[in-house]
Amino acid sequence: MATTLEISFLHNQLEDRKRRLESAIALAPQKAGLASLLREVDSALDRMGKGSYGICEECHESIEQDRLLADPLVCYCLDHLSDAQRAALQRDLDLASQVQRNLLPQKNLRAGAWDTSYHYAPVGPVSGDYCDLIPSDGQLFFVLGDVSGKGVAASMLMTQLHALFRSLSGMGLPLGQIVTQANRVFCESALAGQYATLVCGQAKSTGEVEIHNAGHWPAIVVGKGGVLRIESTGLPLGMFHDSEFSATRVHLEPGDTLFLYTDGLLETRRGDDEYGVDRVMHLVRQQAARRPGEVISACLDDLHAFADSPPLDDLSLLAIQRMA
Ligand SMILES: [Zn+2]
Repeated sequence: MATTLEISFLHNQLEDRKRRLESAIALAPQKAGLASLLREVDSALDRMGKGSYGICEECHESIEQDRLLADPLVCYCLDHLSDAQRAALQRDLDLASQVQRNLLPQKNLRAGAWDTSYHYAPVGPVSGDYCDLIPSDGQLFFVLGDVSGKGVAASMLMTQLHALFRSLSGMGLPLGQIVTQANRVFCESALAGQYATLVCGQAKSTGEVEIHNAGHWPAIVVGKGGVLRIESTGLPLGMFHDSEFSATRVHLEPGDTLFLYTDGLLETRRGDDEYGVDRVMHLVRQQAARRPGEVISACLDDLHAFADSPPLDDLSLLAIQRMA
């Protein structure tokens, strides 16, 4: 069920659409479709007034919140769409999925001293996971994160994070400022209760890596020196405007690998048991000497052997290795 804040956000959205429709109708009164759209907007505002907004007209259960946020005019839950509505929704999701895939970085990217591999698997048509690799002047900027919630609303925030980090990373700012700025802008645009945990970092050609872990699972560095966990040092992005983020600095030797992952890995289940961080640590340690693509494949094989049920969450894995 939508919260009061979300209802108030949607109310403002609808009022704004009403004003725009009214001025469009005044300019082009004969234009088909405008009047019926205005009727739909009025009807949604009327339902808000009566307290029946967001309730399916067929079964009287709550309509999925992410669908309301994506389209404030929907009147039916997913189970009670007409065939035409269902087909239209499927086309929208297919397109959204395609847009999101086009945002992914190059596969097996090599930049400066770094060799990379990633795996990105949404549980539905779209994902709330964000994976990015941005090479610049022999350095590599990387991000792996997870937006709260699922489905379309989460994927919209993911695309926003992508745009934010892509623009900020091109401005030559220190990493700490990039994260602070991204957090502030993300706070402005995310609704209450929406946030993103992520690990981002900058890897230099000397092997120095600066890492910010904002409320995410531990990043893992593995190499001849053993295994190191890089724990979260800050809150997720989108929670507080004035959050402070602090960096962890590590030095990777040639052959050392940094391994990042999202919920979909840890929360994969067998009975009551979850895959969990310890299994990830163990697996990555065993794969220490191998190439990034091989580490990812070994992890997926181990995960598939472990799981006894289909995945419940988006899964993303990223391995970054300093080349010998
Ligand atoms: Zn329904």
